[in-house]
Amino acid sequence: MKKRVIVSACILGEYCRYDGKTKEIHSVKEALKEYDIIPFCPEAPLFGTPRERINVLEINGEKRIVTDETNKDVTELLKEEINTFIQLHPKVERIILKSKSPSCGYGTTPLLNEKKETIKLGSGIAAELMNKYYKDVKIEDELNFMKHNPNDLN
Ligand code: SF4
Repeated sequence: MKKRVIVSACILGEYCRYDGKTKEIHSVKEALKEYDIIPFCPEAPLFGTPRERINVLEINGEKRIVTDETNKDVTELLKEEINTFIQLHPKVERIILKSKSPSCGYGTTPLLNEKKETIKLGSGIAAELMNKYYKDVKIEDELNFMKHNPNDLN
């Protein structure tokens, strides 16, 4: 049986970003040909594509995911979507997520205050939940691949 890797779907070439675009990195699939690739995108099934941008706000020490213009708190919706995905894929050997995303970013996502000013970098909600659940799997991002293939990003 092949090893399994979760990969952010936009890196794999799906047009699932909030702006309707992809962030495909062609070298990822080649680098992962010995794995079963499990595409992951929690936002597109919930909110459609294109969709309103979301942000990670830190309010009184608690992270909330809030839509950019309509200020709707979608934290619980996203948590449910991500937890369902994790339950469907309880064991994986590798995780590669898109950097800087409010869902997928791992240590690279801007965290905003209530005035929507960036206060620091942290993790998106999916990276955070996966980090808790898949304790023995180190989360990587596409920046590792771009270091070796600097011209590979659309
Ligand atoms: S970064 Fe994550 S949530 Fe955003 S489009 Fe890519 S896979 Fe979907």
